[in-house]
Amino acid sequence: MQTLRSLEALEREGLVAPDLRLAEAAQSMAIALTPEMLGLIDRADAGDPIARQFVPSVLETEIAAEELSDPIGDEARSPVKGIVHRYPDRVLLKPLHVCPVYCRFCFRREKVGPGGEALSADELDRALAYIRERREIWEVILTGGDPLMMAPRRLGELIAALDATEHVGVIRIHSRVPIVDPSRITAELLEAIKPRRATLWLGVHCNHARELSLAARAALAMLADAGIPLIGQTVLLAGVNDDVETLDQLMRALVSARVKPYYLHHPDLVRGTSHFRVSIRRGQELMRALRGRLSGLAQPTYVLDVPGGHGKVPIGPAYLGDDPDALLVRDAFGQTHRYPG
Ligand code: SF4
Repeated sequence: MQTLRSLEALEREGLVAPDLRLAEAAQSMAIALTPEMLGLIDRADAGDPIARQFVPSVLETEIAAEELSDPIGDEARSPVKGIVHRYPDRVLLKPLHVCPVYCRFCFRREKVGPGGEALSADELDRALAYIRERREIWEVILTGGDPLMMAPRRLGELIAALDATEHVGVIRIHSRVPIVDPSRITAELLEAIKPRRATLWLGVHCNHARELSLAARAALAMLADAGIPLIGQTVLLAGVNDDVETLDQLMRALVSARVKPYYLHHPDLVRGTSHFRVSIRRGQELMRALRGRLSGLAQPTYVLDVPGGHGKVPIGPAYLGDDPDALLVRDAFGQTHRYPG
């Protein structure tokens, strides 16, 4: 079976019914649902958390006043096409805008898709020159789109070019591929992307424990066995994972697959995605509940990407309160204790 790429294909699978507003929603972002993700959908569950992430909804046509076309301000921080330079010691490099699936809540939903601009050879050269000329750049984060959608040879050449830049100590790839299209993780790919000098890390985007199928776990095991440290990125999404039991299972499943939970992202102010958003207060409640249930190994940091390109900040919850002569410490179970300030 192939990836489903149209409303008609989703209709044939019984995942949507014909609807003019749905056609409008589908026009605002490409559709892609891989066989692996299709196979995980529970057709009997109208609110299935896997389907909710990839199947268009009429709710996408509702644009809230506070929503933005560039919610995390990539453009404001892009000195050269394909580069986002927000912090002195690291840059994002976006070589392509194609993904194996298209997530309806995507923070780059207005950029990703088959028509999205991949960097030309000249543009990629200019982006690499930007990195070479700035000795302060220690970490390069390959994102997009999904870098693991590149042919292994091309991705290998890109990693080799970064590896040849002596001040680049860490190359990080952010990808949904090991989860949603695990057959792309092959020995050929692993051989091609292995840097000779720099350290390679991989950030895996995963929002629900059910996404960690047997095939996905096998792909993650191949990456881990190849010596690539794995970190997990999750978006907090209403109707997908905004309850403590679901997050608990996801974080445990990630750690069991040798993926260290890294960030729990508060959902960005993406146009047409208010049906995915939860309040920060609710996110903090969930994080507090996780603190009481999971070991530190399974704790992600809850972060907000400040709109306008101002970067990420941890958004709690806070465990310290004020008192004139002592700090008040709130424990994970809700009790408050005094501690000398
Ligand atoms: S894989 Fe990542 S970049 Fe691509 S649509 Fe999903 S969230 Fe967006």
